[in-house]
Amino acid sequence: MHELLIATHNPGKLREFAAIFEGLNLTLRSLDDVGITEEVAETGETFAANAILKAQGYMALSGLPTLADDSGLEVAALHGAPGVHSARYGGLQGEAQLRYLLDQLKDVPWHARLARFVCVIALVRPGHPPELVEGTLPGVIEFEPRGSGGFGYDPLFYVLDENCTLAEMPAERKNRISHRAIAARAARNILERWMLEDDPHL
Ligand code: IMP
Repeated sequence: MHELLIATHNPGKLREFAAIFEGLNLTLRSLDDVGITEEVAETGETFAANAILKAQGYMALSGLPTLADDSGLEVAALHGAPGVHSARYGGLQGEAQLRYLLDQLKDVPWHARLARFVCVIALVRPGHPPELVEGTLPGVIEFEPRGSGGFGYDPLFYVLDENCTLAEMPAERKNRISHRAIAARAARNILERWMLEDDPHL
């Protein structure tokens, strides 16, 4: 049985990855499982740079092959903002952050409110260069929050194919179509290849 560190303290995220990696001969460990309390700083200017920083940083701390993700919202009319600053956009969180985003877009009509969620996953193992995969989910920024599910920008993120916001969607549905799910399925392919290579480190 091989071990893989999932660089998160969030049990929900760990469960999402566990569902997508089911059937692989792999034991997933969270940062809490291995007792890591240090924070690797996300100082990169791109999702990829931050995912690599986290994956390499936590591999150095744990000695385990590591998966780290970095994600966020990119709004076309805001030239890609909030991007890597999504978690603290405008220095705000929660409802105030949604209001701030709506305010930034107050004169922008529906057809110009295109956005996407992006998730980049970095996979690292000792002695090899990092490997990156990406998932994206296109959508439109609503004029008012709708729905109570999900987290972050979900109540403002309208998914055209689904006719609702991410916050109005059942969690299982979001977990199948999300940027993170798409990236995680691509990561699964890499992990399957690692297994085939039978790397003694995994
Ligand atoms: P992280 O990469 O998981 O730390 O996510 C960074 C930030 O991006 C979060 O704090 C949210 O603001 C935003 N974000 C990422 N994924 C989602 C999502 O699926 N729904 C809503 N917001 C998200």
